[in-house]
Amino acid sequence: MNNKPSYQALLKERKRLLQLLADWPPVLRGSIRHHGNKCGNPHCRCRDIKKPVLHGPYHYLSHRYGNKTQTVFLTKVKLRHARQWIADYKRLIRAIYRLSEVNFKLLRYHYDKLDSRK
Ligand SMILES: [Zn+2]
Repeated sequence: MNNKPSYQALLKERKRLLQLLADWPPVLRGSIRHHGNKCGNPHCRCRDIKKPVLHGPYHYLSHRYGNKTQTVFLTKVKLRHARQWIADYKRLIRAIYRLSEVNFKLLRYHYDKLDSRK
């Protein structure tokens, strides 16, 4: 059984992936966290020693760049955007992996006329 895709099929797949990447929506690398908070009022139920009832839960985005992790508070609207951008980031990474795989397979062909743009 021969599962090797044809050279033309690989070029076509690569073109499709590059077109997909050319018009990519906003992306965001990070993760969404939810947790409750304590306020500054010492008499509030969130400060109860035995059974604290925290405020929230609130949504935060945790974002790491280099060695630094930062968080940002997310309103409902920002949460919706962040979820979409994170999903699009993951799709982007998958598309780049597929593109790399296609290019790897193209290199297996014995052609020397590889055009990196087609
Ligand atoms: Zn409180």
